[in-house]
Amino acid sequence: MSYVCPNCGETLESGLSFCTKCGAAVDPMGAQSQPSKQDLAVLQELSRRIEFESKLWVIIGVLQCISLVGIIAGTYNFITASKNKKYADDILKRPVGIYNAFDSLNSWIITLLLNVFLGSIVGIIGSVYNYMSVRDYVKKNKDAFDRLERYYK
Ligand SMILES: [Zn+2]
Repeated sequence: MSYVCPNCGETLESGLSFCTKCGAAVDPMGAQSQPSKQDLAVLQELSRRIEFESKLWVIIGVLQCISLVGIIAGTYNFITASKNKKYADDILKRPVGIYNAFDSLNSWIITLLLNVFLGSIVGIIGSVYNYMSVRDYVKKNKDAFDRLERYYK
């Protein structure tokens, strides 16, 4: 059975006392009891990006409500912002189901369409940020989120 180096995230064969990649002392018995620093750093970065996105949605919502025509999209974006803020904290405590949450584009499409039709051009910025900086980050780090999920499930 293989396990992951808690220092660098390298997958190691069982029975080793030191990581073959970074040289850190590893305990084959205890190695699986905690996630690697590298994976935790990926998780923290995602949380930071989602929290930034929540601030972005607040700013967008304010701009839309000022223009009055965008008040529906603006209100929707305030709700998105508050959900994102909570989600950014929740995943740090329990990083489970992250990849699946970002795999489907359904909610992303709803947010984009609502902003395009009811929220003026400014509403598109939040959707673009989500796609390029949050969703893309999750997709690129699928392995790290899969490993983290195994510890917290
Ligand atoms: Zn290592």
